[in-house]
Amino acid sequence: MSTYKLVCPHCCSRLRIRTSEGTHIFLRIAYLQCLNEACGWCVRAQFEMTHEMSPSGMPNPNVHLPMAPIAMRREAMRAADDQPDLLDVLDTEVLSA
Ligand SMILES: [Zn+2]
Repeated sequence: MSTYKLVCPHCCSRLRIRTSEGTHIFLRIAYLQCLNEACGWCVRAQFEMTHEMSPSGMPNPNVHLPMAPIAMRREAMRAADDQPDLLDVLDTEVLSA
């Protein structure tokens, strides 16, 4: 399992997911809290699946998302070379919650 970190934009400490709820098959809401007691920032975040980057090998006929345009796929390849971002973190931690 990856050990990506969610980082507080105020104090740069680690954020943890206090709770999360699925509101739609493509949308998950998460409530995050900064682990630095002096900061204590809490925030609502959402993780939304918006575009298909590559088709499923086991497609569910009820799942319909637009295919990502070529520019978006190029951007995703560039982002994969960078540091993990917020979405990488949400993906990892929500799935393990
Ligand atoms: Zn903080």
